[in-house]
Amino acid sequence: MKYISTRGNYQPVEAAQAIRLGMVPAGGLFVPEKVPIFSQDTIYNMKDNTYQEIALMVLEEFLSDYQESELEDCIRKAYNEKNFTSDGMAPVLNLDDNIYIMELWHGPTAAFKDMALQLMPHLLLKALQKAEFSKEVVILVATSGDTGKAALEGFKDIPGIRIIVFYPAEGVSKIQEAQMTTTTGSNTYVVAVEGNFDECQNSVKEIFADRDFNSLISRQGYQFSSANSINWGRLVPQIIYYFAAYASLLRDDVISKGQKIDITVPTGNFGNILAAYYAYRMGLPVHKFVCASNDNKILTDFLRTGEYNLERDFIKTISPSMDILISSNLERFLFEITGHNADKINKWYDDLKNKGCFKIDDPTRKKIAGIFVGEYASETETKNTIKKVFRDYNYLVDTHTAVGIRVYQKYRQNLAEDIPVIIDSTANPYKFSKAVLDSLETGINTVNEFAILDTLNKISGQDIHRALKDLDKQEIKHYRNCDTSKIRKEIKDILNIN
Ligand SMILES: *Cc1c(COP(=O)(O)O)cnc(C)c1O
Repeated sequence: MKYISTRGNYQPVEAAQAIRLGMVPAGGLFVPEKVPIFSQDTIYNMKDNTYQEIALMVLEEFLSDYQESELEDCIRKAYNEKNFTSDGMAPVLNLDDNIYIMELWHGPTAAFKDMALQLMPHLLLKALQKAEFSKEVVILVATSGDTGKAALEGFKDIPGIRIIVFYPAEGVSKIQEAQMTTTTGSNTYVVAVEGNFDECQNSVKEIFADRDFNSLISRQGYQFSSANSINWGRLVPQIIYYFAAYASLLRDDVISKGQKIDITVPTGNFGNILAAYYAYRMGLPVHKFVCASNDNKILTDFLRTGEYNLERDFIKTISPSMDILISSNLERFLFEITGHNADKINKWYDDLKNKGCFKIDDPTRKKIAGIFVGEYASETETKNTIKKVFRDYNYLVDTHTAVGIRVYQKYRQNLAEDIPVIIDSTANPYKFSKAVLDSLETGINTVNEFAILDTLNKISGQDIHRALKDLDKQEIKHYRNCDTSKIRKEIKDILNIN
C-alpha cells in the first residue's frame, strides 16, 4: 500500500516512510492510495476474533510494507492486559434501547488517545529500523492536556527515541500537570512553558520550521518528529476499534449480518471520526456518522452550509479537548469524498490560509450530507446530560462523552427508524472531575482537584481510574520550566548540545 499527498505534491511512499515523515514535507497529509475492502463475510466472522486479531487484519491491509511478525510484535506490546485493564481493550456497554457506549479510556492515561499512542511508537520504531535510520529521533509535543501524557506513556523507554513535552504553565489542570510531571522513563522530558497554549504551540511549531536549528541538531545526530494526529501512524490504530465494536454487537445478537449502525463521535481534530469513516469505506455497515461538537461548532456549521469559516471567537469550554477551530484531519476526509481531487483541496486550503474560510461545491456538500450529520451541544446541555445520565442510568460520563450523548439525542428526534448507535466515550469521567462534579449539582463544593476524585467516588461508587489515583502522592520527576523564547535553549540543554 502506497501513501499519497492530499495536495498532490509528493511522490507515493510506503507506510513506514509516511509514519516517519509525519506529514508531507511540502504541506499536505498522507492518505492511502486505495482503501482496502473487507467482504461482509470477513466482517461478520470478526465476532469470533479477539481485538488483537482484528488489529492484525486491519494493520496488514494498510501497512503492507511491515512483516506480519513485526505487526504482531507491535500489537503484543501495545494491546495487552498491562496497558489496557479491560477485556477487549474498548468494551461496549448498553446504556439504553439501541444506545451503546464504546469506552475508549481503559488505557494508561484515561483518555482515548491511548488507543493510538500505545501502538504508534512501536510502528515508528520499526519504521526507523527499516530505513536503517542512524539518527536519534526527538519527538516534540506541545500539549494542552490529554495528548502530552498519552504521548509520554506511549514513547516512554522506546529505544532510539526521546520525547519532550511542552505544556503551558497556566493552561492545564493540576491533575493533568501531575500526570505529566510524575512520568517515569529514561527518555522522557517535560517542560512547563510560561504563557498560554497558543504561545506554547506556536513556539514549538516554529522549531519544526527552523532550518538552522534543525541542521544544528542534525549534525549532533538528532532528528525532530511529531506525534500528533496528522501522522497516519496515529490514525490507522483508530480504525481497529470500530470493527471490534461492530463485532461485539454481532456477538451479542444486537445486530445481524450486514445491519447498519449509527456512529456518534465527540470531535475536535476530526481524527477519530475520520477513522470511523475509513472503516465504513472498508465495508463496515454504517447508516450515519454523527459529528458532535461543543460551542466551538465550526464543524456543525460546515456540515450544514458547506462553508468552513474561521472568523469566530474561540470559546473555552468544559470539554477542552474539543476546543479546536482548525480540524486538521478534515483535509483527508475532503480528499477522500472528492475522489482524490488534489486541485480542489489546494484551492480550499489556500482560501483558508488567505481568507480564513472556504466553501465547498454543492455536489460535494450533498455527498457528505448523505452520510454525515453535524450537531453541537451547549455548555448547559452538556452539564444537564452528565446529571441526567447519572440519575437515569447510574453511569458517570465525562464532559466530552456528554457532548456526544446530547448531540445523538438531538439527531435521534428526527429519526424515523430505530437504528443501533455506538457513541464513543473518549475520556474517563475522573479525568475531568471538577466539571463532572459541578454538573451533578450535589451542593458539595470540594475545591482541591485531588480531593474531588474522592468526592466523586463517594457519590458514584465508580472506581477512580488507576491513572488518576494517588497522583498527588507520587514522586515528581520533572521540574523543568522556561520562557517561550528559551525553548531552543531548553532543547539543547536536554540533548547536551552547546
Ligand atoms: C482528543 C480528544 C477528542 C477529539 O478527538 P479528535 O480525534 O481530535 O476529533 C475528544 N475527546 C477527548 C477526551 C480527547 O482527548
